[in-house]
Amino acid sequence: MTVTERLGLYGPAVRQPTPAKVRRQPAPCGSYGAYQRHYKRGETPCRPCKKAAATYIALWRARSGKTKHVLVPVQVLGALLAAAPTEVEEWAEQQIGANPVTAAVAVALRDGRTEGDVLDA
Ligand SMILES: [Zn+2]
Repeated sequence: MTVTERLGLYGPAVRQPTPAKVRRQPAPCGSYGAYQRHYKRGETPCRPCKKAAATYIALWRARSGKTKHVLVPVQVLGALLAAAPTEVEEWAEQQIGANPVTAAVAVALRDGRTEGDVLDA
């Protein structure tokens, strides 16, 4: 008698019954899952699915560090820098230069996007 037989761990009796497969709802169009479904079926993805896939991939690229730069409106950059601590503003100046930082902050201040607006939003 083997160790497994002595312990009663032999044969099909110890196997757990396979649970019935749970059917999920298919991903609705406009999601990355639906885009993949189109692709696997050899279909041309619909516009909402293409848009969802583009967004998903862009976010993945940003998360994974594949994307090094993004296009941000000057007003948004300026508002963020205006609200940022001085060290962050100085770091940004080292990264992109003093002129772009000064210009972006000036645009934000001109448009009334002050620190309070950013924090209240
Ligand atoms: Zn679709």
